[in-house]
Amino acid sequence: MALFTYEPVPCPICGSADHIPVRRYHIVRRRHLEILRDVLHQPVTAVRCRSCGHHYLNPCPTQESLKAYYHDGYFRDDESAPTNRDLRLTLADRLYFGLSRRLPLSSGRLLDVGAGNRKFLLWAHQRGYEVQGFDAAVYPCVAGSESLPVEIGDFQEFTAFAPASFDLITLWWVIEHLREPVPCVHKIFSLLRPGGFFVIATSNYGSLESRFWGDYWHHLVLPEHVSQFSMASLCRLVEGAGFVVTRRRHDPLSFDTSLSLWELCQHKWGISLPLQGLAAKLLCAPFGPLRSFLRLSGLITVMCRKPR
Ligand SMILES: [Zn+2]
Repeated sequence: MALFTYEPVPCPICGSADHIPVRRYHIVRRRHLEILRDVLHQPVTAVRCRSCGHHYLNPCPTQESLKAYYHDGYFRDDESAPTNRDLRLTLADRLYFGLSRRLPLSSGRLLDVGAGNRKFLLWAHQRGYEVQGFDAAVYPCVAGSESLPVEIGDFQEFTAFAPASFDLITLWWVIEHLREPVPCVHKIFSLLRPGGFFVIATSNYGSLESRFWGDYWHHLVLPEHVSQFSMASLCRLVEGAGFVVTRRRHDPLSFDTSLSLWELCQHKWGISLPLQGLAAKLLCAPFGPLRSFLRLSGLITVMCRKPR
């Protein structure tokens, strides 16, 4: 019996079944989980919806496969995965968050959906926000964040947060993992107070790096990234839920170049070069602002507001 299975799906944004294949990828992962053993060498097809233009995987991993993938060894099968003991909020993290995660409100009640290792949550807490986290599973968390409130479960089914109870909700690099992104954004809309802000970030499949590196693009991450957003489709998603877009940002810090080169050397030729460290990232950093200027960055962020 296959551990990981796929099924045909309609467009996750507009529901249309009319699509054309646009690209075939191979799964090139930093962690090859046991659950993927039967599908590792099968190409994955990305299609474009003929109705709304959104790119997504079709066939798509089944909900059951994704659940098992995230819960049964997402960290456990990876020997290099961090543990609670060695996770710290470093000076580099603080600088990075200060530069790349500038928020549209300087205080208030903040919900981070997909809190992961809680680094961002701890950083926001230290800056005075009243923080709340949410995630689908328990992950190793950064030292000092153990006491921060984080709920674990299925976000769509979770009912303990009161409607209109948050000033700011963040969704960093989560939306591309979801088979059903539309209900998630609608739920976030309902949890925000009128006038509250929503910040959503994802990888940009319309980027220069995505086209250049192909299977080895660092932010591709298959089969997890089941939706492949561009700035246009990300804005369509949030506007469809009722938000008003206040800022579209092509992030200058995306680290695509050094990390994609690392993926290529590691997975194509089996050569491990020291390209994941800070020095390599800094060396390649000047490419980031150029891609940002050209509106072709590998990472994009949209800030939007719930109307009053
Ligand atoms: Zn569509």
